[in-house]
Amino acid sequence: MNSTRRITSTAAIAATVLLAGGLAGCSGGDDAGEGGGDGGGLEDSYTVATDTSFVPFEFQEEEGGEYVGFDIDIINEIADRVGFEIELETTNFDGIIPGMQTGTFDIAIAGMTITEERREAVDFTSPYYKSGLRIGVPADDDTITSIDDLEGKTIATRLGSTSANYIEENIEGATPNTYEQLDQAYLAVEGDGADAVLYDAPNVEYYILTAGEGKLKTVGELIEAQDYGIAVGKGNEELVTAMNESLAEMIDDGTYTEIFKEWFGEEPEWLDDLAASQD
Ligand code: GLN
Repeated sequence: MNSTRRITSTAAIAATVLLAGGLAGCSGGDDAGEGGGDGGGLEDSYTVATDTSFVPFEFQEEEGGEYVGFDIDIINEIADRVGFEIELETTNFDGIIPGMQTGTFDIAIAGMTITEERREAVDFTSPYYKSGLRIGVPADDDTITSIDDLEGKTIATRLGSTSANYIEENIEGATPNTYEQLDQAYLAVEGDGADAVLYDAPNVEYYILTAGEGKLKTVGELIEAQDYGIAVGKGNEELVTAMNESLAEMIDDGTYTEIFKEWFGEEPEWLDDLAASQD
């Protein structure tokens, strides 16, 4: 990651924190989940859950530091446009949906793939990122070159993720080694704990450009196209609609692309597809 990206995103967070501090007195509480059939209405403040670590979407550059990342910039921009304050909470990825069902969190942005099963528990905005899965193997491995070579292998991944599901349902005889945190999954492949890792392509690719440089490499094609959505607790249709409007505006006016370039260093090649999939 280059320092320009780091500085830009840190400045954006600092600005948001200042703004939030200045307006803290008008916080509207966190009872947005109880709106029922009237669409929920809009509150001044929402509890937003994110993942403890999913590079480069949400992570801390140093322990105890501010959360930064693509998701953090996206949700701050949406919050500014819709007009709400954010109370950011971090939790293990597999705790996010349960926390939304109990009303602990109103909104979640965590590189979360939109799936029919999750739609039973939460609502989703329109897609905000077009993703897929990728295989990572030790840099010196030449035995695994595609998804077919994963049959019967031990594959590191994360608990509660779409990749863990994918391994169970699609890879013959494979053993998923599921970890709560991704650094554990990557360490497993770097050591003797797994033959490969299967996870979200942008995460595997970013990891290999940063902490995993020289240790892992990606092989094979992108597997299973996936869309990320922002999850909203059931019964908040007005909030989903307002967020969708802001997201579509950000994509149209170039703000989305600016944020994307800060974290991924280039424009999204699927921008037209993303624009076409907005409500
Ligand atoms: N996109 C993946 C999923 O939804 C992983 C997200 C994550 O680890 N934060 O399961």
